[in-house]
Amino acid sequence: MKKHNFSAGPSILANEVIASTAEAVLDLNGTGLSVMEISHRGKDFQAVMDEAVALFKEVLGVPDGYEVLFLGGGASMQFCMVPYNLLKKKAAYLETGSWAKKAIKEAKLFGPVDIVASSADKNFSYIPDSYEIPDDADYFHVTTNNTIFGTEILEDIDSPVPLVADMSSDIFSRPFDVSKYGIIYGGAQKNLGPAGVAFVVIRKDILGKVERNIPSMLDYRVHIENGSMFNTPPCLPIFTVRETLKWLKKIGGVSRMQEINTGKAGLLYDAIDNSRIFMGTAEKKSRSVMNVCFVMKEEYKDFEADFLSFAQERGMVGVKGHRSVGGFRASIYNAMPVESVQALIDVMKEFEETKVK
Ligand SMILES: *Cc1c(COP(=O)(O)O)cnc(C)c1O
Repeated sequence: MKKHNFSAGPSILANEVIASTAEAVLDLNGTGLSVMEISHRGKDFQAVMDEAVALFKEVLGVPDGYEVLFLGGGASMQFCMVPYNLLKKKAAYLETGSWAKKAIKEAKLFGPVDIVASSADKNFSYIPDSYEIPDDADYFHVTTNNTIFGTEILEDIDSPVPLVADMSSDIFSRPFDVSKYGIIYGGAQKNLGPAGVAFVVIRKDILGKVERNIPSMLDYRVHIENGSMFNTPPCLPIFTVRETLKWLKKIGGVSRMQEINTGKAGLLYDAIDNSRIFMGTAEKKSRSVMNVCFVMKEEYKDFEADFLSFAQERGMVGVKGHRSVGGFRASIYNAMPVESVQALIDVMKEFEETKVK
């Protein structure tokens, strides 16, 4: 049976990306060697790295003055690298979910943290919209897409201080103005590739302002000087990221991706809003285009477990909600075809019509 992969991360990748990675695992460009067994400093891998960086800049529209890094340690490593490299006096954070809270916890190891607004009062079901960013903070940190709670910041915020964004789960899902950001980072395993590599887009002039000594592996400047090759980079994940970026460019880049994504999300949210038994958990104006969170209405709560097995039997994978929200979450990242979204909607309707009187 065809599987429809709604997993939150690691998550769905385009079929052709998986196929070309599989090919390079066996034989990279007819070299007779696997991409996994060649030197990262040899010309074959250097070409992969260079093209991955060039495509990343091209497809996202990264202006001059920025560097793109591919590092190990995931997005979670960036939770500490950001304050290590930037926090002098104090940092400002927007608290919009579990990942934001984790980022805040790490920043507090380096100095005072001003939480400018939080949506914890309503289990992170919305994005706070009235707050002031202190202009004496060293930076302002946001999580643009809250993977667990299904909320998203779709506008580029005007910040008087460098804006730092965790874009793990919505990078490359839509165009945005990179020049408004000081740092953009994330794990690759939602929209770009397999787990094991994080991307960091960084405006070089915000670095070098803190006094503290920074261990080499955690110092952005060291990674910039060495073109992400200070140590052995995650070669295979970087290869797959390059393949994803080629695929993205071919289908029309981030503008086209945005049209497809808003189409998919619109279909699914409409089905939820028009359902007798399901309801969304995020406030409408804050809804994520990537992670659609929904539950059963109070009077139908007892059907939740039944629906999960019903959906599973019909090939739906990864639709169980995160424990902090419950219910269901359909992650509909870039590589998710609209046919899979429609298949989920059909299963929801079938369940509603045949199982819930
Ligand atoms: C998945 C995720 C993370 C964690 O990424 P790791 O690579 O596992 O450290 C951080 N932030 C957001 C928004 C995520 O979705």
